[in-house]
Amino acid sequence: MDLEDIPSEFVDRAIGPVTVLFGAKGGKYPHGNSLLVRGTNETVVIDPSLGIVERGGPAPPADRVLLSHCHEDHVAGAHLYADQPWHFHEADLPGIGSLDAFMAIYGFPPEVEAGFRRVALEEFHFTPRTDALAYQDADVFDLGDVQIEVLHTPGHTRGHSCFQVKWGNGSESLLYLGDIDLSSFGPYYGDAWSNLEDFERSLARVREVEANFYATFHHIGVLDSRGAFLERLDRYAAVIERRETRLLEFLSEAPRTLQEVAAHRFVYRPGDAVLFAEPVERRSMGMHIERLVRAGRVEELEADLFRAR
Ligand SMILES: [Zn+2]
Repeated sequence: MDLEDIPSEFVDRAIGPVTVLFGAKGGKYPHGNSLLVRGTNETVVIDPSLGIVERGGPAPPADRVLLSHCHEDHVAGAHLYADQPWHFHEADLPGIGSLDAFMAIYGFPPEVEAGFRRVALEEFHFTPRTDALAYQDADVFDLGDVQIEVLHTPGHTRGHSCFQVKWGNGSESLLYLGDIDLSSFGPYYGDAWSNLEDFERSLARVREVEANFYATFHHIGVLDSRGAFLERLDRYAAVIERRETRLLEFLSEAPRTLQEVAAHRFVYRPGDAVLFAEPVERRSMGMHIERLVRAGRVEELEADLFRAR
């Protein structure tokens, strides 16, 4: 298919051996930005998103599919590569085996899950696959003069991983951050397979990675300098602290139940029409409460009633 046939909202950007295939709306959820990495021996597509489906025509050819993690928006275009191997971190791999296993990653209550099953199938083309392959931290995919190195960065999901693409004998690189998306929304750790403190350790880890370019799956897209990356990363990480500070304020006004905390909204804004806002608030802020209790800054007055000390 000719480049002119691609709708204008799907812009591509070439960086060394990497082509960033921007999704609709610059990759704002449910859309996302995929990467195509071409070496002399192999081409790899990373996180095939809805954009690859919606561009129409045949999907960009690739020899294998690398997934940063097993979430609906990241696997939305994977079905277009049914004949190629799919690779997930070993901790996320079970999630692609069936729709039930996929739902376990989120752990939504039944009434939310029923709707989300339909969304996963109809809007994100969820396609189970039992022969997907596992990768681990520090694994390297050698495409021939281009290497992709895995950094396991759990927190968003158990297996969430970043990929450092290196070329020019390792002199140049791009760090693909997946859903460490540097957005103003901040880190998302609201699923059953999420973990707040793992996320914080992963943020510290990616902060140390020297690269020429940094790319995210969602709307931030590509950052062209380490300075720009660090600025964004610090702002992004600060959202965690802001949620915790607001929570402490809320718990110092009066003792609250987790239900009241969730209803107050710390992750989403009050009134945001998000199907799964309630369970995500519960899980995310529950982890904050847990560690504040551990640190002696919040006490549990009776079962499920919390007050700041
Ligand atoms: Zn995700």
